Amino acid sequence: NLTLAELGTWLRRASTLLAEASGHLNELDAAIGDADHGSNMRRGFAAVEAALDAGEFPDVAALMKKVGMTLVSSVGGASGPLYGTFFLRLGTSQAGETELGADALLAALEAGVEGIAQRGRAVAGEKTMLDAWLPALEAYREELDDLESPASPAEGTDALVTGRRALAAAVDAGARAAAEGRDATEPLQASKGRASYLGERSIGHIDPGAASTAILWQALREVLA
Ligand code: ADP
Ligand code: MG
Ligand code: MG
Repeated sequence: NLTLAELGTWLRRASTLLAEASGHLNELDAAIGDADHGSNMRRGFAAVEAALDAGEFPDVAALMKKVGMTLVSSVGGASGPLYGTFFLRLGTSQAGETELGADALLAALEAGVEGIAQRGRAVAGEKTMLDAWLPALEAYREELDDLESPASPAEGTDALVTGRRALAAAVDAGARAAAEGRDATEPLQASKGRASYLGERSIGHIDPGAASTAILWQALREVLA
């Protein structure tokens, strides 16, 4: 299972990767937005790290509430409320929990992504971060289904299905699909957010929010590897 401490490790690793990628994320945003997505994410996750340093969190809900509120208050721009809502919702179903198994993590991520969709009033194919989140969740779900119903009984259930390996395999599948989803935003025309103001001229560029979402997945994959 993914422990509370490992959730903290995930957020810190995400902060490092986002800081490293902030120039690139700003460049992506320069093409179809206002060139600040990397700076926004870097600032937001630096604040999250400071909050992790400062506080003790009794359960997943408390940790994620803090993360969400920190992002909302430290990130200007569309991505602050969107990622903030994601983390707030991720935690709400997990009150009292101090670790997440593969199924619980899926449920938590689904709740978070539903929060993004509601808050942004966006659906798949609008060239937003959802175009990385949605295929990632689908791939995670499929990987878990495959593990829970192996093609032949000989493949065994216990060792693979439960615990760490299932979690790592599902997250790995999710991370891969998030990166593919990010790349697949390139030919799309944006119909939400700043990029939508460009109309057809938004075509031919990767969405910066989809790129930061792929980074969050990569960080989680590294924690479980
Ligand atoms: P801003 O556009 O306010 O400068 P950022 O640059 O930090 O904010 O974030 C831009 C990203 O936010 C976009 O690349 C996109 O992925 C995401 N985004 C913007 N609007 C929406 C929306 N309505 N729904 C989902 N995601 C959105
Ligand atoms: Mg921007
Ligand atoms: Mg901005």
